[in-house]
Amino acid sequence: MFQNSRVRCYIGLGSNLNQPLQQIKNAKEKIARLSDVALLQCSSIYQSKALTLDDEPQNDYLNAVLEIETTLDAESLLDVLQQIEIDQGRVKEKRWGARTIDLDILLYGEQEIKMERLIVPHNEIEKRNFVLLPLSQISSELEIPGKGALKKILQNMSDQPLKKVGEFNG
Ligand code: AMP
Repeated sequence: MFQNSRVRCYIGLGSNLNQPLQQIKNAKEKIARLSDVALLQCSSIYQSKALTLDDEPQNDYLNAVLEIETTLDAESLLDVLQQIEIDQGRVKEKRWGARTIDLDILLYGEQEIKMERLIVPHNEIEKRNFVLLPLSQISSELEIPGKGALKKILQNMSDQPLKKVGEFNG
């Protein structure tokens, strides 16, 4: 499904399996090559501790955020991102489990979407500094629909360790 106007969106990328740096860079290249998508900006690449539901240890994650413009509607964008996840060998074992690549629609224009398979802004975006910090690096003045100004959310956030480990073109 296409819509006529271009919508500015932010995509979160995360990986903690099978050469995460390469996984993140490959996914960014695939997103940049999508015919209905223009890649505008890339954050740096950051390292964060895995969030887990149990005590099982997991490798640290690499995370980044891309700013894009697209003529795809939100569900079609989710479809193409999920296809990239499948192409990069993501096997979904359990919620919050390790993954080769995780691609999330963080923001889709100024829209709030609540569908069974798509929630935008992404769930709990306001609690995750591995999303908020890269997001603010590329667009510090953003408003998160339904949640407020990104700057303000970051000010009120307790520190979680996050280390910048690289750049897409570095
Ligand atoms: P996760 O394992 O956390 O990546 O969850 C994947 C599931 O989240 C998929 O079944 C998606 O349909 C669903 N989902 C809901 N909202 C979003 C979103 N904003 N971006 C990506 N996936 C989403």
